[in-house]
Amino acid sequence: MSAPEKEMSSSAAHQGQAFALNDASLEELEAFFLARGEKSFRAKQAFRRIHHLGSRCLDDFTEFSLPLREKLKQENALPGLFLKESSVSRNGTEKYIFESPEEVPGRDGLRKRVFESVWIVSDGRDERTRKTLCISSQAGCTLNCSFCATGTLPFIGNLRTYEILDQIYQIVHLRQERITNVVFMGMGEPFHNYDNVIRAARILNHPEGLHLSARHITISTAGVVPAIHRFIDERQPFNLAISLNHPDPEKRKPLMDVTERHSLQELLQAARRYTTELRRRITFEYIMIPGQNMDPEDLDKLIRIARKLRCKINLIPLNTTLQGWRAPTAAEIMDFQNALRNAGILAFNRGSPGKDVDGACGMLALRSLSGTTPEKTKASEI
Ligand code: SAH
Repeated sequence: MSAPEKEMSSSAAHQGQAFALNDASLEELEAFFLARGEKSFRAKQAFRRIHHLGSRCLDDFTEFSLPLREKLKQENALPGLFLKESSVSRNGTEKYIFESPEEVPGRDGLRKRVFESVWIVSDGRDERTRKTLCISSQAGCTLNCSFCATGTLPFIGNLRTYEILDQIYQIVHLRQERITNVVFMGMGEPFHNYDNVIRAARILNHPEGLHLSARHITISTAGVVPAIHRFIDERQPFNLAISLNHPDPEKRKPLMDVTERHSLQELLQAARRYTTELRRRITFEYIMIPGQNMDPEDLDKLIRIARKLRCKINLIPLNTTLQGWRAPTAAEIMDFQNALRNAGILAFNRGSPGKDVDGACGMLALRSLSGTTPEKTKASEI
């Protein structure tokens, strides 16, 4: 991992931030209580309260003594996000905008991390409704994918583990509905915040927490190759999706600047290693942008890539008009998808749920808060 990436993925616990109960793994909670002269079983009690029962207030921790509760309150040991806004789309998709309680120094003074999550209802397998939460891992993003609105915002920082989880807990609480899937496809590059993202995913998967199946948790990366290798080395049980978006090593560069640092060849090698060593299918996401990556030549290259490894392709029609690019027509989408299927490749059209509330893929740019088209200067005032 290169130096800047290392820096960005280092754990929140090591960045001098105050300890928060809802930011820690069960093991970290045990160490915390033991260090304070408390019994280690307090950790399990706290973990269950927070992650299984959804407690948002230390007064709920009735198994703790009053002095211990008071002390933890003084230390602000159970911080939570503020819900700033939510908007419902015509098809039932709902977008939420959250603000962190923490202030971080920026060029223009103190700023708070602001980020979005999207609730998506769709048809799943076996006619069961799939209720997916698309969550953010960073406030802004350091990558500059030319089609993505999040890249136009200033980067305010990695989300801490509790900030990742609280998006889910608050939405579940508000809606009083269970979720079936969590996808790290909101704002940010999850693999630039590796430790906090994996800690959050493990907590979601934990039997004493929500106990969400690991196969229902998907982490999507633009192609941070060293982190993919780490994910494989650690045998992480979560689904991995790679935003491929262009099958040509040179033409992918202007679309996704991450390609300058990690070549397409290295990325595909890592993807292949994932499929062979973990014996799992990898998901490629592929934005369809007419004139950029949908020509017959692109299709041929994509087919050649997909035939070499066990994969499926999730097609996403372009949702933004950045660069003056347009979305594909229904006929263009169908032709592209059929060509892949006729070549024997699993290809699905993911569609664009939530487009009318700027909640679809690549549209997360806090637009409804600022009330304008996203611009770096505007967003930095938030
Ligand atoms: N950084 C991660 C996760 C965030 S983006 C990643 O790149 O995978 C989640 C998905 O939305 C990615 O597959 C990305 O390629 C796609 N996306 C981004 N902008 C888009 C846009 N304008 N239209 C359609 N899909 C977009």
